[in-house]
Amino acid sequence: MSRFFDKRREASRRRKLPKFRYIADNTLPFRRDAEGVPCACCGELTHEVYESGFADSAFTGALCPACVVSGRACQTFDASFHDAEQCEQVSSPMAMETLEHCTPGLNTDQPVQWPACCGDYCVFLREMTAEDFENEELMEELADDIAAWEIPEEAVEETRALLFRCPTCGKYRVFFDLD
Ligand SMILES: [Zn+2]
Ligand SMILES: [Zn+2]
Repeated sequence: MSRFFDKRREASRRRKLPKFRYIADNTLPFRRDAEGVPCACCGELTHEVYESGFADSAFTGALCPACVVSGRACQTFDASFHDAEQCEQVSSPMAMETLEHCTPGLNTDQPVQWPACCGDYCVFLREMTAEDFENEELMEELADDIAAWEIPEEAVEETRALLFRCPTCGKYRVFFDLD
């Protein structure tokens, strides 16, 4: 397969996923399945599969993007993707609702303490890369967060770190998935 076609496929794949408010388009936790899997919620065959389950249920079946983003999956299984009490606090009930019931889990060992800023939740950008850790400006901006996690300096880069950004003021935040 040529690069050109790979790129085109990647582009068409992205178009098929709905927009998620708190997760950047290119890091959405859906697995591409060529043959398709029936969604446990709506029964439709889906080629984009979410199977990281809920925060408060043992269910880990396949879910389609539409059932995840609409909140239908959470409603059907009476479950939440995130526990807002574990996350930073926002006063907007709509923001809490969107995070808990319309934002897929990030497949972490620990419940994500989703960062908030400017009255809303931040957007998950990506897992931090070696390049990110070498970016002095970024590391300076994350210094307060890193200090709050009390991770020994030499262990910071070894820990899985999820990078978030406030869509309003642009501030970066980090969550460490300590095991
Ligand atoms: Zn579905
Ligand atoms: Zn902000």
